[in-house]
Amino acid sequence: MTADQPGAEPCPCGRGLPYPDCCGRWHARHAADGTLAAPTAEDLMRSRYTAFALLVATDHDDAARTAAAMVAYLRATWAAETRPAAADLTPGPGETPTAFTRLAVTDTTGGGPFDTVGTVTFTALGRDASGARVRLTEHSRFRREDGVWRYVDGDVAG
Ligand SMILES: [Zn+2]
Repeated sequence: MTADQPGAEPCPCGRGLPYPDCCGRWHARHAADGTLAAPTAEDLMRSRYTAFALLVATDHDDAARTAAAMVAYLRATWAAETRPAAADLTPGPGETPTAFTRLAVTDTTGGGPFDTVGTVTFTALGRDASGARVRLTEHSRFRREDGVWRYVDGDVAG
């Protein structure tokens, strides 16, 4: 994201849409009135990946406010029994979290508007604080309660 034209940037999730037309829709709804509106497990997973990506992006004017909104979104979309504390999602002073730069969704099961469970398998690529490449593959589990998809947990592979 750049400070001058945030709306014109492609969404970090890599779907090929501008951020406001992609994951930004779900982030904005949540920021406006707390509504969690992602219709499928994959949409939710992408919006959570994008929230993590924006959380660590400090190269724009509104970084602190954006980070707080993304932490709130991540916690709200986490199942109650596995939800981390806000402090565990917020980078500490001098801490440089892994910056993910690419996402590939490789498989989904269920997760649709009429399902109650779903899985999404994805690979995320990025760099850690030392500049070393990071490749994370996770098989994530999602659950829909009262029409709202939430992340439950996942198995990290390789
Ligand atoms: Zn997106």
